[in-house]
Order: sequence, then structure tokens, then C-alpha cells
Amino acid sequence: MWVVVHTCVGFALGALFWERLGWPWWLVAVVVLVSHPLLDLIPHWDYVFTEKRVAWGCLDFFASLAACIALLALGAPLALVVLGPISGAPDFDVLTNTLTGSRLRHWFPSHWDRFPHGVCGPRPGIALQVAIMAASAAVFFALG
Ligand SMILES: [Zn+2]
Repeated sequence: MWVVVHTCVGFALGALFWERLGWPWWLVAVVVLVSHPLLDLIPHWDYVFTEKRVAWGCLDFFASLAACIALLALGAPLALVVLGPISGAPDFDVLTNTLTGSRLRHWFPSHWDRFPHGVCGPRPGIALQVAIMAASAAVFFALG
């Protein structure tokens, strides 16, 4: 799943478990990290095998960065905002491979070949990821 989707889910989970329910930050960091492989199970469309993977990868990275900057500009605590990149961090092995064209072994379990990574076509795969981001934003702003 795209880095920006994981990032948005990390924001929402942080708003719920850390900010609203008062769970310890370290435990919420574990929760957002565990959310990564769970999201990767959901059928989605990845750009890594397309010809425009470098452009998609750059867009994905900068969209994630822009989301972090936007939340900080809106006054969200840094400790909350950083949960987004923690959720997306496992995808950096995918991102670096995509940008460099490398086929090096991935280190995160949900990126291994034997992991049942969810896959579907571009139209439903993009729509689903946009819907997850919208739902995450709704949760984040409803709790904030
Ligand atoms: Zn992933």
C-alpha cells in the first residue's frame, strides 16, 4: 500500500489511541507499526511494477511529507505527527528499491514474496486507498 496511506492511518491511530485514549506513546508506535502489514493484506494497487514507478514514488513520498507538514502547521503535536511516518516507515525498503531500480531483498515481512500481499487493479486499488485516507482524515479531525 502507498506510503501516504500508511501515514494517514498512523495519524488516525495516534489521534485515537495516544491523544484520545491516553495510551503510552511507545505502545501506539507499536500499534501503528502493526497496522502496516494488516493494511498490506487488503487488495490494493501498487505502482512499483509500473513504468512510471519513479514518478509515483516521488509523488507518494512528497504527499506523505506534505501531510506531516500540514498537520504540524495546523498545530498537531510532533509526537502525534511522527506516528504517521512510523506507520509508513517499512515501505522505505520498497521506495528505495523503486527509486533505484534495485531488486534487493525487502526487510519487512509484509514485503516478502511469501506474504499474502493484497493486489487488485488500478481503478479499485486507487479508490480503496483514497477511501482509507479519507476515513483516516475523518477520524483524525473528528477526534482532534
Ligand atoms: Zn508495505
